Amino acid sequence: MAPVAYAGHNAQSRRLLYGYKDPLAARDDRRATVLLMLFVAVGLHRRCLESAVGRPVDAWTVVPSTRGRADHPLPALASRIGLPHRRLIATPAADQPSDPRLVTHGRFSFDRPEDAAGRHVLIVDDTWTTGARLQSMALSLRASGAAAVTGLVLARWLSAEWPATAGYLHDTPHRDFDPRICPVSGVRCA
Ligand SMILES: [Zn+2]
Repeated sequence: MAPVAYAGHNAQSRRLLYGYKDPLAARDDRRATVLLMLFVAVGLHRRCLESAVGRPVDAWTVVPSTRGRADHPLPALASRIGLPHRRLIATPAADQPSDPRLVTHGRFSFDRPEDAAGRHVLIVDDTWTTGARLQSMALSLRASGAAAVTGLVLARWLSAEWPATAGYLHDTPHRDFDPRICPVSGVRCA
């Protein structure tokens, strides 16, 4: 999983990540900001995403809303960031586990699972909280024969209230977003 940025720990990132999904965000700069961050991440670091698994990305998909949002803006934004033509459409299963943190096969299905076979599939998502949805999708893609699966996530969510991320927030001084910092290696590569 390659995170483009961190979010959740300050008001600006919460406004962006929660707010860009709001229909009103079509009238301000939040969707353009999300588009630009993903576009630059793929433009500058595509080779990093590919060399990490040793093969080019040749299909992509988006983690769908499990809350039934049909108007989620992420698929349209992700279709504009220079990914390959081949896209798989994912649908969440009707019976999602009561514990959303559960990583399990069968939470998602794909319109053309055969398109995953033998390919390196990039899963695009906006937020990594527990990672359960993206990892569940990766399991399904692997079961469909994907040769490799990589997650490109706009933001890894941090909270001072979670032990797993509180330590990181405490130890890591604030750093402004720098698109040259690699989502794969975490160091400046571009
Ligand atoms: Zn890079």
